[in-house]
Amino acid sequence: MIPSRLPQERIKTVADNLPKPEELSQIDLSMPDTGWMDTPAIFRKGIYCHAARARDIEALGMPNPRDWRVEDDDWKLPHNWQDVIMDGLRERLEKFRSLRIFMDTCVRCGACADKCHFFIGSGDPKNMPVLRAELLRSVYRHNFTRAGKIMGKMVGARGLSETVLKEWWYYFFQCTECRRCSLFCPYGIDTAEITIIARELLNLLGLNIDWISSPVAKCHHVGNHIGMEPQAMKESIDFLCNDIEEITGIEIKPSFNRKGAEILFVTSSGDYYSEPGIFTCMGYLMLFHQLGLDYTWSTYAAEGGNFGYFTSHEAAKLLNAKIYAEAKRLGVKYILGGECGHMWRVLNQYMDTMNGPPDFLETPVSPVTGTRFENATSTKAVHICEFTADLIKKTKLKFDTKRNDHIKLTYHDSCNVARGMGMLEEPRYIIKKVCNNFYEMPEETIRERTFCCGSGAGLHAGEDMELRMRGGFARANAVRHVRDKHGVNMLACICAIDRAAFPTLMEYWAPEVGVTGIHELLANAMIMDGQKERTQDIRGEDLPNLEPEDKGANNV
Ligand code: SF4
Ligand code: SF4
Repeated sequence: MIPSRLPQERIKTVADNLPKPEELSQIDLSMPDTGWMDTPAIFRKGIYCHAARARDIEALGMPNPRDWRVEDDDWKLPHNWQDVIMDGLRERLEKFRSLRIFMDTCVRCGACADKCHFFIGSGDPKNMPVLRAELLRSVYRHNFTRAGKIMGKMVGARGLSETVLKEWWYYFFQCTECRRCSLFCPYGIDTAEITIIARELLNLLGLNIDWISSPVAKCHHVGNHIGMEPQAMKESIDFLCNDIEEITGIEIKPSFNRKGAEILFVTSSGDYYSEPGIFTCMGYLMLFHQLGLDYTWSTYAAEGGNFGYFTSHEAAKLLNAKIYAEAKRLGVKYILGGECGHMWRVLNQYMDTMNGPPDFLETPVSPVTGTRFENATSTKAVHICEFTADLIKKTKLKFDTKRNDHIKLTYHDSCNVARGMGMLEEPRYIIKKVCNNFYEMPEETIRERTFCCGSGAGLHAGEDMELRMRGGFARANAVRHVRDKHGVNMLACICAIDRAAFPTLMEYWAPEVGVTGIHELLANAMIMDGQKERTQDIRGEDLPNLEPEDKGANNV
């Protein structure tokens, strides 16, 4: 065993206050004089998050709950911590063939090196995906390959010391699991998957971050990440309905926990809790009312997001199970998912095998158009953008697009929905039907090659603000480009984390650009049966572009 510790002098406090954008954009891309193994990780405030708390780890029944501080030398590791990690790694190498391949096949070609937004924004070599993966791979080589056992450092192998463990924690919580790097790897190595496994290993020792473990514990016990009690959730949505009535004159009465509804609607709690997500939520409510949809909210499955996914497969499964359990209890036919990124990845790619098969549900069929969503045959869950794009295609909605004419819009492809699952056209299709002024960001920054918001995978905390601003630099730069070239003043996205993270990022790097969801734009433009003259948008702001004679006009 290699003894190690994290000396206090290696904890800098240079980022106590967030530097100005002019300073932060001066990115030092010079390489250190020492090789990566001999270059210690400098824990800088503003780059890392607070440690997970004992009460949350305990609440989840996860191992090694204790209160500890990142700044302390002693992370209070259990005496057998190396064995725990090695057993955990061995188990995962046996379980996940992909992990074995990712550990053995990297040829260090460097194609991924400059593709990570955290490397672009920080210049820290250990934020190159190839090096991030090497942090784990080096330990794998040392313990699981003959060459590594015999030749050690010569073949890029190193033992697991406390320094190495702390370096893992520091850098694997600087990866948003966005998978941009994997797109450029000739071997298809997915560093996000490596981060997921590394975080699982760290969680075996209770080494999570507070911004993840706290929402996971709240979701497990209360039903959503923010810990909102059922009555408060209902009140929050009722409050949005009151606003809708003021703006449109239409009274909406959504149902909660209603047995026998056709559809269970699930979205991220960010949509019914905080701005600007609530405006997207108002869009859902208005759309469903206009369609006369037979749907229900659930105060039990009150969270589409799944921070368990940023913790471990087991934690993801635990939280996800609520959705199928509630769909079964309520007797719905299928699930409709709101605008969220990682929520959709979990629903679409993991739910069926984690907690399915959901034989008690039916393949979704739109009650309005009759479209059968064959792509949802196994999961029985449809994304709202698929659902809405189909409605528009079959001319079931009418719009007055002038209501969005004060908006010059660009669109951010959320990593999980776009790169993760290829949903590229449906959001654009809706946007172009409800918005007259749409401008794409540069081609190399959108669609599959989209840049991450810099705050995903549980990093949307307050204490790591410098990391978030650095990580979001590449995305924001592309927004600045269309802001300066076309006068873009609004950034649309279909992810609750994006909607939460972008306002701060835009304020920092691209002032004057607001943030919206697609169903907010849709609701602005949608003509509802029985509506009063519309003079305000969904945010309650006067519609500036309507001349008096145009007010109330219903131009489709
Ligand atoms: S998954 Fe995303 S954040 Fe992680 S290393 Fe790759 S590009 Fe960077
Ligand atoms: S692109 Fe793939 S093979 Fe090349 S260094 Fe990166 S992970 Fe390794």
